[in-house]
Amino acid sequence: MTASIISGKELAQEKRKQLAQEVKELKEQGVVPGLVVILVGDHPASISYIKGKQKASEEIGVAFTLEHFPETMKEEELLDVIDKYNHDESCHGILVQLPLPDHIQEKAVIEKISPAKDVDGFHPLNIGQMMIGEDTFLPCTPAGIVEMIKSANIEIAGKHVVVVGRSNIVGKPVGILLLNEHATVTYCHSRTPDLKEVTKQADILVVAVGRANFITGEHIKQNAVVIDVGVNRLETGKLCGDVVFEDAKQIASHITPVPGGVGPMTITMLAHNVVKSARISAVRLQVS
Ligand code: NDP
Repeated sequence: MTASIISGKELAQEKRKQLAQEVKELKEQGVVPGLVVILVGDHPASISYIKGKQKASEEIGVAFTLEHFPETMKEEELLDVIDKYNHDESCHGILVQLPLPDHIQEKAVIEKISPAKDVDGFHPLNIGQMMIGEDTFLPCTPAGIVEMIKSANIEIAGKHVVVVGRSNIVGKPVGILLLNEHATVTYCHSRTPDLKEVTKQADILVVAVGRANFITGEHIKQNAVVIDVGVNRLETGKLCGDVVFEDAKQIASHITPVPGGVGPMTITMLAHNVVKSARISAVRLQVS
């Protein structure tokens, strides 16, 4: 039997319809959800990611503003722009596209964004809330992964999850979210000896490394669920994940494709966070 495909694209479409309905209701209450994306420089991948975010925002009815600055922008200037939007009531979410030029400290920028508008879920306060299992803005890729697993009716509680990769934006938080769902979680990274020995124990294997064809059939347990987060561009121009898809298809019970897997859900979870922030504003307006 071949693995079932968990289509992030289809799930994202469904969720975007629900979000569009919520936006309509918010607009009837006088609140137009607003997202501001700040880009410094002309990183081609960043421009392409932003286009995806803009398209999804427009589809859902979120007001999208792009602030595009030259590579030479000073850190102080960027912090001032963030401060302006922190105080702008028409803006419910601020996203600074990463990576930033080397002369700008990512940490200072992330910490400048008001936690109440941190729709990327990268602010230390929101990360802390996530750690203790409080309702907060969750980082988009990890939150999208949990939604995808749940959409396929896969039980998480009691399962052994192995996460390959420990970045602050994907690997670490996805492990925490799955731990909060009562999985037993093991992290692997570049210093893990004998990776295969660990990944072969996974009921749910999440791979976020950024290397094409890194995980092969030898790494995967029979009937495991494989979540491929990696996005790699081959010399042919084609996109592929970190997992050899054809191998996983023969061994796993479920697999996410690249493209059309985790990517579309990441963007949708961003829109989800913007709508959530706007909803909180609408409640505040009603109270005052
Ligand atoms: P990082 O480069 O920040 O992290 C990569 C991780 O992989 C690190 O923790 C690193 O370990 C680990 N790693 C590297 N080599 C090995 C190895 N040989 N064995 C085991 N682990 C290894 O990447 P990100 O987390 O930001 O992204 C990972 C991938 O996911 C990329 O392809 C990225 O494009 C994609 N991505 C996709 C998104 C989507 O929406 N689809 C969103 C975000 C990312 P160590 O810490 O020890 O260096």
